[in-house]
Amino acid sequence: QFRIDGRSAFVTGAASGLGLAFAEAMAEAGCAVTLSDRDGEGAEREAARLAQQGAEARAAALDVTDRAAMAAAVDAHVAAFGGLDILFANAGIDTGAGFWNPAGHRNPEGQVDTYDPERWDRSIAVNLTGIYNTIRDGVRAMKAAGRGGSVIVTSSNAAVVNEPIVGLAYMPAKAAVKHLVEHLGLELAEFGIRVNAIAPGPFVTNIGGGWLKKDPQARKKWDSLVPLGRVAEPCQIKPLALYLASDASNYMTGAHLMIDGGMAL
Ligand code: NAD
Repeated sequence: QFRIDGRSAFVTGAASGLGLAFAEAMAEAGCAVTLSDRDGEGAEREAARLAQQGAEARAAALDVTDRAAMAAAVDAHVAAFGGLDILFANAGIDTGAGFWNPAGHRNPEGQVDTYDPERWDRSIAVNLTGIYNTIRDGVRAMKAAGRGGSVIVTSSNAAVVNEPIVGLAYMPAKAAVKHLVEHLGLELAEFGIRVNAIAPGPFVTNIGGGWLKKDPQARKKWDSLVPLGRVAEPCQIKPLALYLASDASNYMTGAHLMIDGGMAL
């Protein structure tokens, strides 16, 4: 039931962090994969590495806010692999340096009256509209192939709990993503297209300045705040990704699955 060999997956934000772990999980299970990222060189590098390990992997330089580029990248994926079965709408940003900041101070980018509105616009453009752009073209390709599919969206535990360490727009964007996933789970069920969200807690990636990577104090602090006692490495997300991508989860849609060491409890 966990088998996905012979299928193909498209991942946004795949040059690093959780997106790269998703791409690796797909490749390790024998699924062809497109690694897309606004960092085109990074996507190329990682796709070449996976190809060297025997995977069918290709890269696409793609900013998720660019609808024309998104449509072209999905079309190129379909042309290369003969369809699209699994879509990871993953690319996301924090506009400031607040994410897992060791100081853990509140409102790192200012309060509502001082926060730069351009940060709001950028965060919503990537974290919410970028997810919509990705799903829009991915679903178009899935419907055209007529064999269903699995859409997996990267949300955050910040969709459901208040985490004032991140930029002001990040939480409302992720909360809207959760709602979008629930709506699309319903809308796309009749096409056999399932839509689910992964909602991570603290994972050691580059987001928001990469505090957990670069600062041992930050890591120690957040280790101590997680009920299971530690922040997570990106590879720890792979089993959940494979579960949602495969038929093992064939009765699950519209779900918002927390993987946060119990932080939101
Ligand atoms: P990351 O910074 O390591 O990776 C994000 C990747 O997305 C990068 O390769 C970046 O180049 C790419 N990207 C950013 N903006 C893009 C755009 N406009 N178009 C295309 N690519 C773009 O961070 P990550 O932690 O792996 O983030 C992945 C997802 O996980 C995000 O949606 C983030 O909100 C979510 N998330 C992360 C954590 C965490 O602790 N790491 C927690 C909750 C949610």
